[in-house]
Amino acid sequence: MQNIHAHTWDQALHFTPATVREADVARGYPIDLTVRFDSLMADMAPFEKVLLFGMKARLNGYWVPDDYVADFIARAPGRLYGFAGCDPTQPAYMDELAYGIEERHLSGVKMGPTYAGFDPRDPRCEPVYAYCQERDLPILMHCGTTFNSQAPLKYSRPWLWDDVAIAYPGLRMVLAHVGHPFCDECLVVIRKHANLYADISALYYRPWQFYNLLITAQEYHVTHKLLFGTDYPFARARESIEGLRHVNDMLAGTALPRVSQQTIDEILNRDGFALLGIH
Ligand SMILES: [Zn+2]
Repeated sequence: MQNIHAHTWDQALHFTPATVREADVARGYPIDLTVRFDSLMADMAPFEKVLLFGMKARLNGYWVPDDYVADFIARAPGRLYGFAGCDPTQPAYMDELAYGIEERHLSGVKMGPTYAGFDPRDPRCEPVYAYCQERDLPILMHCGTTFNSQAPLKYSRPWLWDDVAIAYPGLRMVLAHVGHPFCDECLVVIRKHANLYADISALYYRPWQFYNLLITAQEYHVTHKLLFGTDYPFARARESIEGLRHVNDMLAGTALPRVSQQTIDEILNRDGFALLGIH
């Protein structure tokens, strides 16, 4: 198994105090989101490969340097892989990207349009997309809602990526969290474009939504574009795996359609690293 979506950061160093408070409010209790190497590796035991990234989104108080991610993954080479962060609203973002990729050898790019406050179709993104398409680097995009009050939801809608994929058909992108709660919209966008995927991280704990998006994916014949991820530290490995395996449990006594065992097994066993060209 592989985990295509997990984080590394230190909330004391990389989040503003206001952002930490918002995370606490979202949960209803204080939570330490700092990722510690030993705890991460213990949680990631089921996975042969894990993709880690931080986040650069100045608007909402996230700034995880690429050096931090690169140093972290260097502690488990061949097991941990890292993406560079990119916030195209900030100065010198292309220089930072070139550094993360060319000097620190990160394997792709993480962007968070709603967190950073930009439209995925913004012209400032074009050099990023061109750079990545030319070098065959995948981009994982946060897609869908979040708890941060200053993150504009208008930049979270999956259909925004339709234009990006039309303009950059060779660019491999993952839309995170199947664009929740706009999951249907995300599924029809990834169905259209050969190089667009979605990850199912941090969805199992809303079982009704999770079940429905998997059924919709089956009906649109797009389950082969779904990749497994956890969104650690927001969600853990075992619970995420079991949540998928037991998604049909709530159907007992009903005639509702089932998520097929084949769909479940294929999502858990898919080689997302190969599909995205991560090495
Ligand atoms: Zn995430």
